Amino acid sequence: MSNAILVVGGGFSGLTAAIEAAELGHDVYIVEKSPWLGGRVAQLNKYFPKLCPPSCGLEIQFQRIRKNPRIHCLTMANVIGVNGSKGNYTVRVRLEPRHTPPHNVDFTFLASTLEGEVASEFDLGLSKRKALYKAMPFAYPARYVLDTTTLSKADNARIAGKASLDPSEEAREIELSVGAIVVATGWKPYDVTNLSNLGAGSVKNCISNMQLERLASPFGPTQGKIVRPTDGRTPHSVAFVQCAGSRDQNHLNYCSYICCMATLKHCLYFAEQHPTTQITVFYIDLRAPGRYVNVLEKVQALPNVHFIKGKVANVTQSDGDCCCIQAEDAIRGEKLTLNYDMVVLATGMQPTLATEKCPIPVAVDADGFIAGGEEAGIFACGCAVMPLDVTRSAQSGTAAALKAVQTVKGR
Ligand code: SF4
Repeated sequence: MSNAILVVGGGFSGLTAAIEAAELGHDVYIVEKSPWLGGRVAQLNKYFPKLCPPSCGLEIQFQRIRKNPRIHCLTMANVIGVNGSKGNYTVRVRLEPRHTPPHNVDFTFLASTLEGEVASEFDLGLSKRKALYKAMPFAYPARYVLDTTTLSKADNARIAGKASLDPSEEAREIELSVGAIVVATGWKPYDVTNLSNLGAGSVKNCISNMQLERLASPFGPTQGKIVRPTDGRTPHSVAFVQCAGSRDQNHLNYCSYICCMATLKHCLYFAEQHPTTQITVFYIDLRAPGRYVNVLEKVQALPNVHFIKGKVANVTQSDGDCCCIQAEDAIRGEKLTLNYDMVVLATGMQPTLATEKCPIPVAVDADGFIAGGEEAGIFACGCAVMPLDVTRSAQSGTAAALKAVQTVKGR
């Protein structure tokens, strides 16, 4: 029997669950597949309810982790097998090689001398990253990663002999004994290239809402300037396409909950940076739950933001790398063809487990959200269960931690 708890996923809900359980006296293992903790929140410019930058909320979480020796963070790690039953699980974890030292070494200069580059996963393809990289300045753990597949021949020569780097490090496997499991595998933005009629991946300056977050972030590809990706110019007209992929039987057959609020937030970003940019929001319904109705009213009062109730049929390329939208205005009963400098697709939230296999024995529903598992001492939280905002994700992390603690205490 073990009173340790495994948390799969190091995003906001997983971190909350891990910290709550550890502060109640339990050993906790966080298994996170990416090199750093923080999940999707780390990619945002600001998040509700207070519109703080991610470093603010995450830094508090990271401080609590640093101070708590009961929390063991395993990054670049994946669960590859689970045996046993409630109260007594053996979990096999594969640790991918990081090729860098276990402590924080500043590789800024060496990284800048390397020539091999690939599209940055963290910036969602809007920038390039080197083979030796750290996604964000406040990354935790504050360690670089060496991606040996991106090294050029010359790069290999440059890093040869650097005692602190180990390109030959290999993956290894470990086993953990835990009594309960929290699954916080989170979400990913719906693959916008599935929306071929909306120009994703083919129409220049047609981007996703998460890409706009990266443009607005001071640590993003434009140091926070919201500009057109093709020419770096301030967009004078922008259209937001709501429900891009959500509430659609051919894509996500549910409301993603966060994308109306994300667009309202983006209108506020424009109000700060480019208050004269003309914005049109094409929507089916506008969902601003609870107290967020204040944000909706604030944005509706902005003179440069216009709302059109109607579905967008097509986004195509027009002259000057502009985007042409064909849509209907459902209230006026008109068909519209309008040109914009930039289009933002308010893409929805898809649970990670919709497209990735999970070795943990939990059932998922037709959309990939976790349904059940509690009888086996496996508790899901955050957007692995349903679309949630950050506050509610954290609350569900706390709830999962308390259930996990009760499970292992009762053994
Ligand atoms: Fe559509 Fe808004 Fe629901 Fe997102 S939150 S799916 S944009 S109605």
